Amino acid sequence: MNELVIVGAGPAGMAGAVAAAEHGIDVLVIDEQAQGGGQIFRRPPASFGVKTNYGPYRWAEQLIARFESHPRIRTMFRSTAYGVLRDRDASGMQLQIGVSRDGHGETVAAGRLLIATGAYDMPVAFPGWTLPGVMTVGAAQSLLKSQKVLAGRRIILAGSHPLLLIAAEQLIDAGAQIAEIAFARGLPSVSEAAKAIPAAPGHLAVFAEAARATAKLVARGVKISTRTIVTEAIGKSSLRGAKLSRVDRNWRPVGTSRELEGDLLLLGYGFSPSTELARQAGCEMLWSSKLGGWVVRHDASFATSAESIYIAGEPTGVAGAEQSWAEGWHAGLNIAYSLGVRTQELTKALADSETHLTKSARFSSVVQKMFEPNRHALAHLSAPKETIVCRCELVTSERIDEVLDLNPFLSSSSALKLECRSGMGPCQGRYCEGTVSARIAEARKSDIESSGYFTAHFPIKPVVLNAYQGLDDSQK
Ligand SMILES: Cc1cc2nc3c(=O)[nH]c(=O)nc-3n(C[C@H](O)[C@H](O)[C@H](O)COP(=O)(O)OP(=O)(O)OC[C@H]3O[C@@H](n4cnc5c(N)ncnc54)[C@H](O)[C@@H]3O)c2cc1C
Repeated sequence: MNELVIVGAGPAGMAGAVAAAEHGIDVLVIDEQAQGGGQIFRRPPASFGVKTNYGPYRWAEQLIARFESHPRIRTMFRSTAYGVLRDRDASGMQLQIGVSRDGHGETVAAGRLLIATGAYDMPVAFPGWTLPGVMTVGAAQSLLKSQKVLAGRRIILAGSHPLLLIAAEQLIDAGAQIAEIAFARGLPSVSEAAKAIPAAPGHLAVFAEAARATAKLVARGVKISTRTIVTEAIGKSSLRGAKLSRVDRNWRPVGTSRELEGDLLLLGYGFSPSTELARQAGCEMLWSSKLGGWVVRHDASFATSAESIYIAGEPTGVAGAEQSWAEGWHAGLNIAYSLGVRTQELTKALADSETHLTKSARFSSVVQKMFEPNRHALAHLSAPKETIVCRCELVTSERIDEVLDLNPFLSSSSALKLECRSGMGPCQGRYCEGTVSARIAEARKSDIESSGYFTAHFPIKPVVLNAYQGLDDSQK
């Protein structure tokens, strides 16, 4: 039995592992990637001979080095945790994590489980969004960071998140031409900027990175438009361009649209917490639009409502790498405490980590408020009847409306899923949940929270059948 199993080796998972290991806990870390770093510190293979630039995150290099060299930390990379089995026996809660790797499966027993599965780009459905050549900005950035591959040449970026600016700079440096960056929101108002000032101390490097990227883009003549949204991706078998429209303060298109040529359209409206594993494991969820949607409820020690299961990083709310690191560290220390460690060092480390957590939360809450997406307006973009809402099961907007009309008492995402299969495909609703729940809310004149969330089933991600090997044995 592993004292602690962590799923996710991003800033949260790595910090949790190092914090627990440094207080005497043996840790096993599982991640789908080939090495630690998560989304933000994704690195190319060592054979590329490229030195990674960690940007404003000066702590990253040291965290990765401690994570990779600590003798109490073992890793399982290129491995997917696809479900959690919970069983209670005389000795307490027994946790088994189903893992798929190299075309086979195994189960891993855990005394404590820390879920640090991060987030993914928030998907938005609109006419043409499933055309080859339309991607999320994080996906294009991942290709660039990990494989040095440019996904297109003439690139349109659209959305509302500042990652668009950082990614645009990286794409230009790699040789791409940026056709335009379209922001759905306006420039931060004077009062928004004033509210950000108290959050700046200790985070100046992060502010500076965004400011430097913007200055460089302006100097290169890149067109940056505000109050502009993409309403359609144009092309037959692949992307030829996009329709852009001016929007009002509520992100609703006004006037006529214009066309812009490009072979790659990158969307960046923010992130959705990756909570499938926590949902399937039975953790309670709560809704917070500014935190990214459905997030995992936890107490001050980062324990979830499910016994022996902890949570850290973006599944508690999208808050940036610094906050993920602080949460992972705090969770790792609390897990050591829960496993019986009682030392002066741990008491001091817990107090220090609480202070760090408070400071980083101040910064992330400012950013969250400033860049919260307008979910109703984004869902409205999917309204044209032939628009595909669920790309796995090819469920159209027209079909969603039909189901809502035929079933006047249907008011939850899970019920709609049973009726028309939206969310039942391989992605298990990661692409369509946001659109579906906002569309139900609009039709029923309620709020998005009332639509609920898709139930996550075992396995939470598509895995080969062989991955089920050994599941029976784990129950004996
Ligand atoms: C695509 C993308 C690009 C981003 N780029 C930037 C950027 O350039 N600058 C910036 O400031 N912020 C960026 N962000 C946001 C930033 O990544 C986060 O703020 C930060 O990395 C969160 O850290 P974390 O540890 O919570 O999660 P992550 O860094 O996301 O780490 C989660 C890890 O969990 C693993 N994982 C998830 N589910 C499973 C599973 N079932 N089984 C096994 N492993 C699993 C993933 O492979 C990943 O390595 C990006 C986010 C995304 C999604």
